[in-house]
Amino acid sequence: MMPWRYVLPLAFLALSTPAIAAQEIRPNVVVIFADDLGYGDLGAYGHPTIRTPRLDRMAAEGLKLTQFYTAESVCTPSRAALLTGRLPVRSGMAGDRLRVLFPNSLGGLPQSEITLPEALKERGYATAAIGKWHLGHLPEYLPTRHGFDQYFGIPYSNDMESKQRGDPPLPLMRGEQVVEQPADQTTLTRRYTEEAIGFMRANRARPFFLYLPHTFPHVPLFASDEFRGRSPRGLYGDVVEEMDWSVGRILDALRDLGIAERTLVVFTSDNGPWLTRGLQGGSAGLLREGKGSTWEGGMRVPAIAWWPGTIAAGRVSESLASTMDLFPTALAMAGGAPPRDRVMDGVSLLPLLRGERQPPRDPVFFYRGTRLFAVRKGPWKAHLITQSAYGTDAPVVHDTPGLVAEQVGVDVRDAEGA
Ligand code: MG
Repeated sequence: MMPWRYVLPLAFLALSTPAIAAQEIRPNVVVIFADDLGYGDLGAYGHPTIRTPRLDRMAAEGLKLTQFYTAESVCTPSRAALLTGRLPVRSGMAGDRLRVLFPNSLGGLPQSEITLPEALKERGYATAAIGKWHLGHLPEYLPTRHGFDQYFGIPYSNDMESKQRGDPPLPLMRGEQVVEQPADQTTLTRRYTEEAIGFMRANRARPFFLYLPHTFPHVPLFASDEFRGRSPRGLYGDVVEEMDWSVGRILDALRDLGIAERTLVVFTSDNGPWLTRGLQGGSAGLLREGKGSTWEGGMRVPAIAWWPGTIAAGRVSESLASTMDLFPTALAMAGGAPPRDRVMDGVSLLPLLRGERQPPRDPVFFYRGTRLFAVRKGPWKAHLITQSAYGTDAPVVHDTPGLVAEQVGVDVRDAEGA
């Protein structure tokens, strides 16, 4: 028979082991969301003059995705999709006449939607939104009413100051209060970065979700004194390079805090470049069209995932993925499952991130407002409506009857042996 002096410590061990396991801190999730940054605007994606050493290094240390799609080609629906894991038509955040919210809009993301921060809060996460919101600026739609513990940023796009429309000067908000009006846009990127680092430091001992939707490179462009006039690509380049600096500060802070190994950071963009803005807009590289369009340049965006110790360094994947996948991915990391009472359009990318076999993710649907424009399946994309987002200001342009199919990628199952 076992002597008592052994039994007690063993009993203690048996009782305490599950407790220790339960206390293991769930991984953090950081989503850095550029605004109107094109597929071709980063060094890692081939831009010849914009210097993005920190994002390039993030890709070299992590996973670069080359077939990653946003769910819509303009701000409001794209953000709704990211935070709900659902196509914007499902949440009502999809307009045909007005495709985004304006300062005189009365609506916003409905309370009936379950947002990612709400789902993560239930699992003990601290949550913050720092940057541009654009899912409703009236009190009932603010980030603080949609699962975020704290908010600092502008409530809609930085160009929404139309005197003709009667817009107020651009507000900068903390929580539900306007703290600066007009917002000093030259220091926004810098202030978002400091705010984000403060949030991560304050919550380093518990799991957190940081949503950092930058104001730029959406026009009008502003950079701080330190970055203005530095890039051969002009002010657009300055702005992207300051964002690159910001990403570097965030990754450095995670390392300094000792939490990099339990933090997934995803950097991507809400939609393609605003091509009609000339040099003030970005580049979709070799892809057709940009912001506002369901052609590849409007929908396919740069995407880099970084999670030291979990994501192997230097991987490039042609797997089909979407911003809508971030909701189920983050929830899986938090040990939860997506809501069952509604249709979810995203899937968890955890197998892909871990280097395991990711089940085929087909098909992907591309809407403009409430109309289905295109479908991607495997390497093929069928354009049901080939209306251009450019060309003329006429409401309907270049409408080609019939269906156009283009091969926009390789068959991932061939390329990656999946
Ligand atoms: Mg945008």
